[in-house]
Amino acid sequence: MSTTLDHPKKAAAFVADIDRAHWHDQTLWYVRVKRDKQAASLPEWELLRDTAAQIKANVVANLAAYLEQFEAKATKLGAVVHWARDAAEHNEIVLKLLQERGVTKVVKSKSMLTEECHLNPYLERAGIEVVDTDLGERIVQLAKEPPSHIVLPCIHYKKEEIGELFHEHLGTEKGAKDPKYLAEAARRHLREKFCGAQAGITGVNFAIAETGGFVVCTNEGNADLGVSLPKLHITCLGIEKFLPRAADLGVFLRLLARSATGQPITTYSSHFHGPIEGGELHIVLVDNGRTEIVASDDFRRSLNCIRCGACMNTCPVFRRSGGHSYEATVPGPIGSILSPARDSEKYATLPHACSLCGSCSDVCPVKIDIHQQLLTWRREIAVRKQLKWSKRMVMKLAGWVLGTPWLYRAAGRMARWWIPKLPRILVYNRWNPWGKQRELPELAKRSFRELYRARRKF
Ligand code: SF4
Repeated sequence: MSTTLDHPKKAAAFVADIDRAHWHDQTLWYVRVKRDKQAASLPEWELLRDTAAQIKANVVANLAAYLEQFEAKATKLGAVVHWARDAAEHNEIVLKLLQERGVTKVVKSKSMLTEECHLNPYLERAGIEVVDTDLGERIVQLAKEPPSHIVLPCIHYKKEEIGELFHEHLGTEKGAKDPKYLAEAARRHLREKFCGAQAGITGVNFAIAETGGFVVCTNEGNADLGVSLPKLHITCLGIEKFLPRAADLGVFLRLLARSATGQPITTYSSHFHGPIEGGELHIVLVDNGRTEIVASDDFRRSLNCIRCGACMNTCPVFRRSGGHSYEATVPGPIGSILSPARDSEKYATLPHACSLCGSCSDVCPVKIDIHQQLLTWRREIAVRKQLKWSKRMVMKLAGWVLGTPWLYRAAGRMARWWIPKLPRILVYNRWNPWGKQRELPELAKRSFRELYRARRKF
């Protein structure tokens, strides 16, 4: 039986470090504001979102046909297509390809699918060195941690901490925290790894059924370098990543970078059509639970996700609880839909890590009704009796009060009378981590007597 994730407890541990939680919140909000500026600069923004949602709905409705079309076209271009039902099959296929060619050193560009399948530890156990070449991913790899965000994997780290990590692993000066100095050290370190690699692994942002090609978007060019030097290129592709036609790319490339980081376009949008001259290209198509989501009327639309991370940047809960509190490859609002689909018992607390403000649905470039689906998951988890006993009781009580008009009115009158008389210390105290950084935080520092005297002012 899986261990149940206690998201509130994990979030409380993150929020207990007030400075980090505040800085994490502000940094992600900065990215959200950049996204808003870019969206506002395109008059056709809403039209792009509508078009993207319709294209993705078409893909999911005709998935089998697009998969077969892609396989036929990619094979014609000289690639070898493999099919993996789950993470275990995916890992076995990749390992077999590497072992058959005697590969012991691999470079890998950012791929959430390989994180989902836990490919790195699997290959390392077989004696293969895997180096993540995206800078953020390399940082969390050196720290022996999973990414905390799908686009900004080390967003929870401060530059001083990265300096310490690089001092320990890359031999940089102790106490160095200049981003340029640290980036140059990482560049030298990664260049060595690129030159020594015998194979390159990439993820995929978009695969095109019509052409059999695929596109990988990076800001560092690491995917291109990783698969241009070695002769073996393996790409891991989730079956929901398809677009029907090459012409559809224009819609998605315009939406992706603007939504993810507030850039008009990613620095590199690399197109791959078959292997390089004298090389091999293997494409591993991975299901790993996706067809079960396709079969669900309630959650099918979650497969439209293009992994831009915008819902994480805007989510008030994610910004204040950190990505690791979700214990999932894809955290945040969309992760709180995808994770319970894998294991509703383990992830039963995630759909409740949501204020239902709807901001995630507002920013989603493919118009997924994220907060509605989270609400549906709450109902589903209650029906499956997977809620904690204490939460069930509170919900029952709340349901009773909300469903009984006279009781609701009486409770409202009592609350109006009692709440202003309560000492604020009951909210702003050290046992309530959420209260610590909400409005009027200076109240937390006042004594009970001061608060009692000042209470009428609020
Ligand atoms: S659900 Fe929407 S906003 Fe969130 S990562 Fe996916 S595409 Fe982006």
